[in-house]
Amino acid sequence: MEAAGERFRQAARQGRLHQLSSTEFTVPGISAGNVVRWVYEYGMVTNQDGRAIYDRIKAAPLDERCPLCGHGVVSTLDHFLPKRMFPALCVDPLNLVPACRDCNHAKGEGLPSAAESTPLHPYLDRVDHDSWLEARVVDSSPIWLDFFVSPPPAWEQVLVDRARHHFALFGLAPLFAVQANRIVSNIRQQLTEMLDTGGEDMVRAYLSAEADSRLAHQLNGWEGVTYRALARDRAFCSGAFIS
Ligand SMILES: [Zn+2]
Repeated sequence: MEAAGERFRQAARQGRLHQLSSTEFTVPGISAGNVVRWVYEYGMVTNQDGRAIYDRIKAAPLDERCPLCGHGVVSTLDHFLPKRMFPALCVDPLNLVPACRDCNHAKGEGLPSAAESTPLHPYLDRVDHDSWLEARVVDSSPIWLDFFVSPPPAWEQVLVDRARHHFALFGLAPLFAVQANRIVSNIRQQLTEMLDTGGEDMVRAYLSAEADSRLAHQLNGWEGVTYRALARDRAFCSGAFIS
């Protein structure tokens, strides 16, 4: 299982997870079902000592938010490479990705068919040092934001394609847009008062400060990106939020 883990890491570094053959990730002499049952389920999920490790992996992400969508609350561990096909990786910590229920369901048990359709791995693909999430106001009544992947120029095309695939697979654009709409509803009264007393400059300054604080915490967090998009929108700052 350690050797399988090393093959998994090497393939991830080389961007060829989609080429892995499940026959290299079995445990000789033991069926996949038995490996998963005895090592993962009895050894880790229900065993007291193993469960402590399971819970530590589950609690690891920032704010205990699902690292696949950055929004949902972690409720499970997702096997990045499915455990039935890759039983030798069933308890490898790097193959156990904390996930919310929706992302776990969306990802399913499939294996990516190409490099471009491999979802981003939150620990193996360190993309969060770069700013890649962007949004713009596309409608003002009601306010609706379009979220999209805006990759830095240094990214290779395959990483751009993977980020866009990840975005679509987990339905991040509509998920973030609905949340952004809630933010606007919650601050509408406050913004209206600011517009009355300090004009659009006051509204913009407030939104920018909120964006900076959130983006300092999480560079690609949907909340910071929402405030930044609102601050950059002239019509919004000058009162489009009132309608
Ligand atoms: Zn999620």
